[in-house]
Amino acid sequence: MPISRSEQPVFRFAPSPNGVLHLGHALSAILNHDMAAKAGGRFLLRIEDIDRARCRPEFEAAIFADLAWLGLDWEEPVRRQSEHLALYAAMLERLKAMGLVYPSFMTRGEIRAAVAEAEAKGKRWPRDPDGTPLYPGRERDLSPDEQAARIASGRPYAWRLDMEQAVRRVGPLTWRETGAGPAGETGLIAADPASWSDVVLSRSDAPSSYHLSVVVDDAVQGITHVVRGRDLYHATSVHRLLQELLDLPQPVYHHHRLILGPDGRKLSKSNEDTGIGAFRAAGHTPADVRAMILSGDEPPARG
Ligand code: GLU
Repeated sequence: MPISRSEQPVFRFAPSPNGVLHLGHALSAILNHDMAAKAGGRFLLRIEDIDRARCRPEFEAAIFADLAWLGLDWEEPVRRQSEHLALYAAMLERLKAMGLVYPSFMTRGEIRAAVAEAEAKGKRWPRDPDGTPLYPGRERDLSPDEQAARIASGRPYAWRLDMEQAVRRVGPLTWRETGAGPAGETGLIAADPASWSDVVLSRSDAPSSYHLSVVVDDAVQGITHVVRGRDLYHATSVHRLLQELLDLPQPVYHHHRLILGPDGRKLSKSNEDTGIGAFRAAGHTPADVRAMILSGDEPPARG
């Protein structure tokens, strides 16, 4: 029986064109593609090019070429985040209207200095799950007049989520994990968005953050299954919170293992040696790359 479009599972691979795809991306793309095929679902490609300073058209062209070389085919048209900035801005407006975001004027340098000063007193400042020091400011307490005056002065600022209020508003959240977290977590996972503190949702030099645009796009594209690397496992807590605040559907999540370099570290886009193009240039076939990255992977999700 043919699956109707509304019930059809929808998967996506969502790279940022800020470097060449490496084996870790190939694993993500292939898993998404194969899981979609197995489930009779759709496979979409999304270009996450919000960060105009780091994204380049030649990297985007290389993404298409590498994925085609790997034998993957995706639906057209490809969604490009840079073409939907007004939508992310509208979503931010909704959060503003709910009183859940505030303008933050502290620069990265001021944040670093505040953390260093606190740590100089002998206590380690708390970190987010990625290891970045939590935002140390109290700008959520600025009066509306003070906020307006600072904005009017032309100082650059970011919009931060008032995490405490946001969490209070939605209550406890979970997600369904069919892959595994860093400690093997699977099944129904309790989200912990507060571990990220007041995350940035947009800045003067980047009109939307990764967190905001990814949840909006997953909803707009009807994504039912998010399959991505385990490095984004903890970010799912923020994504669940934003989905709940913005009344967006929640997909099933599948976080897959990361492919590590010879130094035991996560592969980086600046490392051309592990770029897919380097394997192609060295005479490897797409089947070689598939075999190399799929060996030892956990079985695909059933959900
Ligand atoms: N654009 C993100 C990256 O390249 C992936 C986003 C996602 O899969 O949620 O790391």
